[in-house]
Amino acid sequence: ETIEQTIERLGAVVPDYPKPGVVFRDLTPVFAGGEAFRAVVDSLLAEYKGRFDYVAGIEARGFLLAAAAAYAAGKGVLTVRKPGKLPRDTYSESYSMEYSENTLEVHQDDFPAGSRILILDDVLATGGTLGATARLIEQAGGIVAGFGVVLELRDLGGRTALHDYPVHALAAY
Ligand code: 5GP
Repeated sequence: ETIEQTIERLGAVVPDYPKPGVVFRDLTPVFAGGEAFRAVVDSLLAEYKGRFDYVAGIEARGFLLAAAAAYAAGKGVLTVRKPGKLPRDTYSESYSMEYSENTLEVHQDDFPAGSRILILDDVLATGGTLGATARLIEQAGGIVAGFGVVLELRDLGGRTALHDYPVHALAAY
């Protein structure tokens, strides 16, 4: 079974969540499948091997991937968080998504300028979330090594929105 087939087999499709008309892809069973989770993290890392200094995870599902990947690679993990959660000075970026308006923040000094940052999240939809994260990393002096996601929802055009950066998706619908 390929990683894409594993994600397809374990992922759940939830109609009308979080709003009527939205089809939500729930990857929690992929995370809960022990071998599947390891395969996901290893696959994301393999794509960017030797090309990053830190792994950034986007709250909250991205934290799981980033922590595991950073541990496996022996690198530091960074948290990209919802507003008001980080205690020291932050940069802040607001953006719109398929069904909500959001803001994300990073600490201004969590990594040295010029560090290469691999950014991980579970799903790429419109690309608003990853795009805002790239702007935050760059404001803080970092270089975006690339994005890794478990699943890309092609119809929402995220890859086009992020055309300036490498995007690696383990599965795409
Ligand atoms: P975007 O900003 O690309 O439109 O949306 C991506 C963000 O929203 C990610 O942080 C992702 O976790 C969440 N998201 C959007 N749609 C889905 C979905 O169908 N399933 C999951 N698990 N997350 C989603």
